[in-house]
Amino acid sequence: MSAVMQNAAFRETGLDFSYELLEVRPEELRRTASEKLTGPGVRGANVTIPHKVEIMRYLDEIYYEAQRIGAVNLIVNDGGILKGYNTDGSAALRAIVETYGSIRDTRVIVLGAGGAARAVCYKLAESASEIMILNRTEEHAVALSDYLSAFPECRAVISAGSLQYESLRKGLEEADILVNTTPVGMHPKTESSPVASRLLRSDLLVFDTVYNPLMTRLLLDAEAVGARVLTGVQMLVYQGAATFELWTRRKAPEAVMMRAVMDALEGRAD
Ligand code: NAP
Repeated sequence: MSAVMQNAAFRETGLDFSYELLEVRPEELRRTASEKLTGPGVRGANVTIPHKVEIMRYLDEIYYEAQRIGAVNLIVNDGGILKGYNTDGSAALRAIVETYGSIRDTRVIVLGAGGAARAVCYKLAESASEIMILNRTEEHAVALSDYLSAFPECRAVISAGSLQYESLRKGLEEADILVNTTPVGMHPKTESSPVASRLLRSDLLVFDTVYNPLMTRLLLDAEAVGARVLTGVQMLVYQGAATFELWTRRKAPEAVMMRAVMDALEGRAD
């Protein structure tokens, strides 16, 4: 989706850039960074699973938020100096605030404790009052909770538990916002949901970071009980827009980027 989105933005703004996909094996990461990414014709890169943490060893500068989150999803090549950023957390927060309004003093449940959860929880923790992280492997949730709680900018009380019916039931009784950062429900297993539908309530905002399909089983169930829903597409486009602006120093044509993503997703809807 990033190639579709960025190439549409380059066409729209008349910039002579092109976004290409590069498959990199872990043992090639150091050489890719030092040789391919520092070249004069390369403005930067996005980094995805499984390289978001490891890539940090090969960058010259890492911006504050990426350091805090502990992962880089965006690299800018400034004359051979590689600078690392993380735009996932801010993009998720922007999408949530646009839909929900201020998240100050809200109670949030986050499902998952991987890279997306780290970024989302870090940004939410600056304003929310409580965050409960529930994960398939409970120790990963506990580790993330401990890690984030140690930062002075973390305002939220963060708790952790295992992603199970009973913990979800208890957590959802009190929550304002539910965020899924697990891949459960993603194409092709579109009938799966991380949450039993009977636990959802009409006064929740349910945000699924999965964007293929656009309306996941979780979001369909949430909509059926009258809850507000937010798909993963806004987060995707907002992080893409931030990426475009850091690479080009031009305002991102967000509407064009959104249209390109929606067209591509709808074109391959199952
Ligand atoms: P990741 O680092 O691999 O983390 C995956 C997390 O999901 C882990 O906490 C893992 O639990 C959990 N998980 C995996 N399979 C599961 C299952 N079958 N049942 C329950 N939990 C499961 O991946 P990530 O980078 O965080 O990305 C996760 C998802 O976020 C992606 O699939 C993508 O859809 C979405 N995402 C969206 C955007 C966007 O812009 N919209 C951006 C980034 C990511 P364990 O700890 O037990 O392994």
